Amino acid sequence: MIYLDNNATTQVDPAVLEEMLPYLQEQYGNPSSAYSFGKRAANAVSKAREQVATLLKCDPSEILFTSCGTESDNSAIQSALLLDPDRKHLVTSKVEHSAIIRHGEALARRGYEVTWLDVDSEGLIDLDALRQAIREDTAIVSLMWANNETGVLFPIAEAAEICRSKGTLFHTDAVQAVGKIDIALENLPINLLSLSGHKLHAPKGVAALYVNRKTRFNAYLIGGGQENKRRGGTENTASIVGLGKAAELAAAAMEDENGRVRELRDRFEQGLLELVPSVQVNGHRTRRLPNTSNLAIEGIDSEGMLLLLDQRGVCCSAGSACTAGSLEPSHVLKAMGYSIDRARGSLRFSFSRFNTESEVAQVLEIIPRAVEKLRSMNRGFLAA
Ligand code: PLP
Repeated sequence: MIYLDNNATTQVDPAVLEEMLPYLQEQYGNPSSAYSFGKRAANAVSKAREQVATLLKCDPSEILFTSCGTESDNSAIQSALLLDPDRKHLVTSKVEHSAIIRHGEALARRGYEVTWLDVDSEGLIDLDALRQAIREDTAIVSLMWANNETGVLFPIAEAAEICRSKGTLFHTDAVQAVGKIDIALENLPINLLSLSGHKLHAPKGVAALYVNRKTRFNAYLIGGGQENKRRGGTENTASIVGLGKAAELAAAAMEDENGRVRELRDRFEQGLLELVPSVQVNGHRTRRLPNTSNLAIEGIDSEGMLLLLDQRGVCCSAGSACTAGSLEPSHVLKAMGYSIDRARGSLRFSFSRFNTESEVAQVLEIIPRAVEKLRSMNRGFLAA
């Protein structure tokens, strides 16, 4: 198998698994227990908090562990809405992950007002439009750091500064950015930031929310006093330990490994652009994650392509999702103003440190053949 779908999820790093195993076996104490067996688990959770804080360059007390990126996103928004019930307006963008979009839509049905910022054809927002969208009653602005489909990076530092100057809370869904680009929260006026373990070689079902120490926070999950009373529920010790280790590895890999991943992605993308006629890159060419390549391939349908590539052991994602039998073009590519045909012919390839040069060489043989096959089938279909 050649796995080029690392924005969907990543392989658990063997070093992460090794670190977790004792907490799935003999070290099963509850971190809240008063005896030393419980304390050992509590210490492991504390160490993980420090490792995540080191990666983000913030204070460990600003990290709270959650169950997934979706929970982090939902908690951030809900906390802001509870802080000031008179603020019933939110600002976000049209290209967010469903963890923000569906939540925003649900809030709109409950009487909140949501401003959905547009993006241009390169996938970027207009900061003036953001400035104009913020009102006296805006509870929170939520903008993703990196887009999961195109990898495009929003100007988060500038957006956060605009929100700070207007006295509005700012949340960023950094689920795709953390571990892939350098993030230094100590220098940024960001109130809340979401990340998710399974995007950076930790297991699924563990994530974190950064809450700036000066930002008031209302718990979303109310129960025991875990996570400094900010998130009820017995800690998922083993997975939290895994997330801590993954953060440590990501911090160590940031310079060398991410440079290598960028080289692999660029070699792949350049190769495909040279070998296959009528291919275009979706999204800004430089302001994007080093691991993501979203390509529009004329004359193919991405679902057919996924099947062909699957038969040859290549995993990647389509620019459309098959819902209820109809091919719904990606909301991200649609918001960028691309035609339905371009969205339907788009594929996302996303790399990680486990990909190799030999894999890139192999897919540069497999994909052009698959494109040619689909194109000739489609030509035959049209001629018939
Ligand atoms: N936000 C973004 C940008 C994502 O890509 C994802 C996952 O694909 C999520 C949020 C949700 O994260 P999780 O799967 O951990 O709930």
